[in-house]
Amino acid sequence: MEKEIHSCDILLTNTRYLTPDMQVVSGKSIAIAQGRILDITDAGAEACQAEIVLPGEHLLWMPGLIDGHLHTSQQLLRGRLLDEKPVIWKRVNVPFESRLDPESSRLSAQLAAMEMISCGTTGFVDAGGKYPEVFAQVYGDCGLRGRLSVMTNDNPHAPESLRAPSVSQAVDRLRSMRDALSGRMKPIYSVTTPTAVSEALLRAVFQAAAEDGVPVETHMNEYASEVTEFIERYGARPFTWLESEGLLQAPLVAPHCIFLAQEEIEVLSRRDVRVAHCPFSNCGKGVPPTPQLLSAGVPVGLGTDGSAHGGLDLFREMRLFRGVMNVTRGVAEANSSIMPAQTLLRMATQGGAAALLEPETGAIEPGRLADLIAIDIDAPHLWPTQDLVHSLVESASGADVRHSIIDGALVMKDRELLTLDAHRIRREAELLLEKNPWMCRW
Ligand SMILES: [Zn+2]
Repeated sequence: MEKEIHSCDILLTNTRYLTPDMQVVSGKSIAIAQGRILDITDAGAEACQAEIVLPGEHLLWMPGLIDGHLHTSQQLLRGRLLDEKPVIWKRVNVPFESRLDPESSRLSAQLAAMEMISCGTTGFVDAGGKYPEVFAQVYGDCGLRGRLSVMTNDNPHAPESLRAPSVSQAVDRLRSMRDALSGRMKPIYSVTTPTAVSEALLRAVFQAAAEDGVPVETHMNEYASEVTEFIERYGARPFTWLESEGLLQAPLVAPHCIFLAQEEIEVLSRRDVRVAHCPFSNCGKGVPPTPQLLSAGVPVGLGTDGSAHGGLDLFREMRLFRGVMNVTRGVAEANSSIMPAQTLLRMATQGGAAALLEPETGAIEPGRLADLIAIDIDAPHLWPTQDLVHSLVESASGADVRHSIIDGALVMKDRELLTLDAHRIRREAELLLEKNPWMCRW
């Protein structure tokens, strides 16, 4: 029997929604109160008294997408990296980030927040910056949910402003960031990538994560050359070594994971490792063994790798990944459903929730946190359709998102951003770029 509801904050009436098992159900009302999904009923507007009522005849509500890996500090690098020769992060990205100050970091976060909310992203895991506390202020104010870190590196070749003076100071910096974060902004410890840092720093950060009960992240197995370099230095593959040294105690968020041997897939399935593939970015590197990871039970999400890798639209990442997997794996195996639409949607929602370590997000169900977005399914490229789940993957884009609710608060209505002053941010970004021509010259 359905529960009786008397009042709620937001009521979504007469609408379709995407269930946790990726089915579309029609004619429902969804009540939201105190940050959570209170109930899903067959009743209409009479379901409850609500401050905000959003009729949904032409909408599909689905869980907000979660970006498992992005770089807020590279938001102003958009358009700079396409056609660059590898390895771009050493030559372009890190030197660029090293010159950011708190003001340009604040604008980077505001621009990233605008882009994320506009394209249906409600949560994210940032790869780390110089000023995560500045990011936290922006993201906290605009309503997003995220994990933040410090870009932690002690490589003697790294730019001085990004280089940790010592291992203990690097760990202290991560802990001071952790202490400064609150609410929807949570900490994750990180090193840039295992081969970029000293063994002492790699061990110290993973050990601190385990001691402090904080998850840890680092770019894993992104380039074949990095795996080879790791083996030369440590005598074993990256995941195999981390496990054998007892360093996989805290949950590890592992962006990329392209070059994995079977022995490493087994480590991932034994340990608490959460993967975030970044399809557009990864197209210049390789194709991950995703079907094997999924059948081994490893949580797999999607990331964008930041705006400099084609933007923050996870709908585009889903569609691209579908194409990549079909061309490289599906065709070879004569298997057209090597990466089905439901699996891709699960990766962008529930897989993202795993990377964010927020298991109460990623699905629309009573009791869950209310992070959800509405797709305008009346658009000519989405209607009529014989299978809306298929069309979400092959035809929808971030521009089809009409409303966004995060933590039970409406942050975008009819594509208007309610928590960010888009005109002011644009003006400030133009001024910043005018005053800092180096930002366009790397
Ligand atoms: Zn990255």
